[in-house]
Amino acid sequence: MKRSCVFFDRDGTLMEDRNYLSDPDGVVLFNDTIPSLKKIAEAGFLMIIVSNQSGIGRGYFTEVELSKVNKRLEDLLAEGGVKLDAFYCCPHIDEDCCDCRKPKSGLILKACEDFDIDLKSSYVVGDKIRDIMTGLNLGTKAILVTTGYGTHEVEKLPEGVPFVNSLAEVANMICK
Ligand SMILES: [Zn+2]
Repeated sequence: MKRSCVFFDRDGTLMEDRNYLSDPDGVVLFNDTIPSLKKIAEAGFLMIIVSNQSGIGRGYFTEVELSKVNKRLEDLLAEGGVKLDAFYCCPHIDEDCCDCRKPKSGLILKACEDFDIDLKSSYVVGDKIRDIMTGLNLGTKAILVTTGYGTHEVEKLPEGVPFVNSLAEVANMICK
């Protein structure tokens, strides 16, 4: 049976945006990350990270360092009883013209190969317009959070796309 999914951006959405973070010790969750994700998981959604990590393409950190940061995030969430279903990251820069750097569709399409996902009842949650457009281009719903980059992005939002100022409000909106 197809399942609904929430595709989360990573930096500025689930954790503080530390600009090209390469050090696992720099992973800091927001206060409401764990309870919000718990609520979304309990409502039956898959939870998948789709993240642009151009720090690799720019040579700021390696795939191995990225895995360590993701592992740290996974561990912190696990301490709170939260498990993500998958991580998909794009290592490229715009000039690479790949098909996975958001707002391109590649990361979500890859997730759809690995999981049986109903995009129409799924959500993309992120703090940047490029997250929102990634979802809308594929027919998902979308919610902008203003926790990271978000406040600059609100004015660029297409009509009808909601924005909220915390993950807790995202969870309320999705689980209503
Ligand atoms: Zn890419």
